Amino acid sequence: MSLLVVGSIAFDSIETPKGSVEDALGGSATFFAYAASFFTKPRLVGVVGDDFPAEHRQLLSARDIDTTGLVTQTGKTFRWKGRYHQDMNTRDTIAVHLNVLNTFDPVLPESFRDSSHVFLANSSPVLQKKVLEQIHRPQLVMADTMDLWIETQHDELMSLLPELDGLLLNDSEARLLSEDDNLVRAGQAIRQMGPKFVIIKKGEHGAVLFSEDGVFAIPAYPTANVTDPTGAGDSFAGGLMGYLDSDQTPPPGRLRRAMVYGSVLASLTVEGFGLDRLTWTKRSEIEERVDQYRTMLAF
Ligand code: AMP
Repeated sequence: MSLLVVGSIAFDSIETPKGSVEDALGGSATFFAYAASFFTKPRLVGVVGDDFPAEHRQLLSARDIDTTGLVTQTGKTFRWKGRYHQDMNTRDTIAVHLNVLNTFDPVLPESFRDSSHVFLANSSPVLQKKVLEQIHRPQLVMADTMDLWIETQHDELMSLLPELDGLLLNDSEARLLSEDDNLVRAGQAIRQMGPKFVIIKKGEHGAVLFSEDGVFAIPAYPTANVTDPTGAGDSFAGGLMGYLDSDQTPPPGRLRRAMVYGSVLASLTVEGFGLDRLTWTKRSEIEERVDQYRTMLAF
């Protein structure tokens, strides 16, 4: 099995009520690949500038992330700056500098084109489709999207959806795409647009899966130590797909278990700034949280 991710690699500057960091390693593909690396050897495709330090590459290779598809271009790495409100459920984007991401046109290394599992992290649906066209016969493709694409590239997004197994989006994006405020109806309506399953993320309130087996909802893993929610969604996706890539038992239980692993990875990420908490996470700690989920949800 093999898991491919295509997405952003960033320098993130973040302010939360717990403190701040400048130019920390982030980006959707980074969080995804790091979270998935607890289960499999992820293949990463992205672009960085010539300011990207060797120590960041080292951090990725130390987790056995395959960086053959990491392209270095002349210029600066993508930069993002965000500030969280007191409750940390909402954030303001203070600055986005696309830099080398602006002209990024991903060409997959030949060795990545046989990937069985593919995650198209948040980017334009046109670019997501171009990536998909380069992969021979993927077993499972999941994509993330956001309000910007729902509003500005609606037709392109609609033509991508039937090619996906799964679509991941947050609650406000699901309402926007379905034009329905009720999340159950929204999830069902988005499934009708093409993807076999839809996962709606609800931040600290958990996530809901809509599939042919019905609706499955889980709360977020209850952590008392939320430091920085950046990357929670991408870590959720990384945990979920990393687990799917490593567990080949038949559905429906597999996707449900993957939701739990995704939530555990997200809960760990939010306990530190950027990737910090994941850098000292142990696989045994992940399994402990999965066990706690089992106990917590039994009644
Ligand atoms: P999340 O908190 O899961 O929404 O992910 C936050 C990550 O997404 C940060 O590490 C950012 O660097 C990255 N990010 C923010 N805006 C964009 C964008 N327009 N394109 C790609 N990645 C982005």
